[in-house]
Amino acid sequence: MNREDFSILDQKVYGKALVYLDNAATTQKPNVVIDTLSKYYLEQNSNIHRGVHYLSSSATAEFENARRSVQTFINATSDCEIIFTRGTTESINLVSSSFGKTFIKEGDEIIISEMEHHSNIVPWQFVCNERDANLKVLKFNEKGEISVKEFTKMLTNKTKIVAITHISNSLGTINPIKDIIDIAHKHNVLVLIDGAQAVAHCKVDVQELDCDFYCFSGHKMYAPMGVGVLYGKKNILEEMHPYQGGGEMIKEVTFEKTTYNELPFKFEAGTPSVGDVLGLQRAIEYMRNIGLDNIAQHEHKLMEFTLAELRKIEGVRIIGEASQRAGVISFLIGDIHPYDLGVLLDRQGVAVRTGHHCTQPVMEHFGIPGTVRVSFAMYNTIDEIKIFINAVKKAKEMLS
Ligand code: PLP
Repeated sequence: MNREDFSILDQKVYGKALVYLDNAATTQKPNVVIDTLSKYYLEQNSNIHRGVHYLSSSATAEFENARRSVQTFINATSDCEIIFTRGTTESINLVSSSFGKTFIKEGDEIIISEMEHHSNIVPWQFVCNERDANLKVLKFNEKGEISVKEFTKMLTNKTKIVAITHISNSLGTINPIKDIIDIAHKHNVLVLIDGAQAVAHCKVDVQELDCDFYCFSGHKMYAPMGVGVLYGKKNILEEMHPYQGGGEMIKEVTFEKTTYNELPFKFEAGTPSVGDVLGLQRAIEYMRNIGLDNIAQHEHKLMEFTLAELRKIEGVRIIGEASQRAGVISFLIGDIHPYDLGVLLDRQGVAVRTGHHCTQPVMEHFGIPGTVRVSFAMYNTIDEIKIFINAVKKAKEMLS
């Protein structure tokens, strides 16, 4: 892969070559994405949609063009189904709040899974508290897999929506979301997919999946921080109450009554982060040039090699052993605290994440304080994994 496109990776930390394995937290950005941001602020910066002048109309055209790129990237039916947000967290909050206000009433049920990121738990707790609805949790087994059969049993005529992650950010599990969606739909239940850990690692086709909502963050897919996407089916979005009030989301405002703008603008109150959206578009183009299948294959090799090498180290316990898994690996060694291991890896130039990864219920399930997590991106190499494995062995020796 084009590692040289990522200048940030070409540096030393503590005198050691940087090995960046914290990609589930955020990926690095290729230089072309940074150039796009820079070009925007040097040559194009202007507020969009409301201006008659040259800069404003050209920024508006580029912004709307970026929306169409996202539409093509995930194969949405229409560009009005693409709503720009600040990230996955905001996308989920938008749906839980607006869908909640419009459709959830007392006694209704919302299903999430035990492996959700906090941003796919807490917003649903808000709704349940506000509407007197019930949050039901689909448990996973010791391998970190959910059962479609168990899921089916949980559905009742009160279930309104299921919100589930495509790929777990702490276990690496790839969930059987197509089955979940098909079964939920047979019961007239809608499905939101948290795609934060998926869009940069496998092909996502929202029409093929037939999901009702799909949420993701730009910064986890080689794009700038501060931008994300909510995909929603047009007919459902049209019925939903707006999320935030303000400029752009209105058609007409009087003190007596306000009418709302059409999709997608109804859900995009205020000035969006135009430069970041253009950066997202450039990141998508960059990934498409390399090919999502090539990226997935490369990351799969890294994942298999890492798992095999980690398993050779005495005392290593992999947290999350799902048969369908992605390039996110959580592990522990004996009773070494993950934080101590993380600090010693850092001193050897290896960036990993330690802690609960915003999935405290997952840690509670296993009765552990946290894990050390490595996660891959297209630019990681087998040589880097070898450095990482040696660093783990060294750290283990020092801490045992
Ligand atoms: N969902 C999952 C599965 C994640 O991994 C993350 C971030 O780590 C989020 C949601 C939240 O993403 P963001 O902080 O970009 O909104």
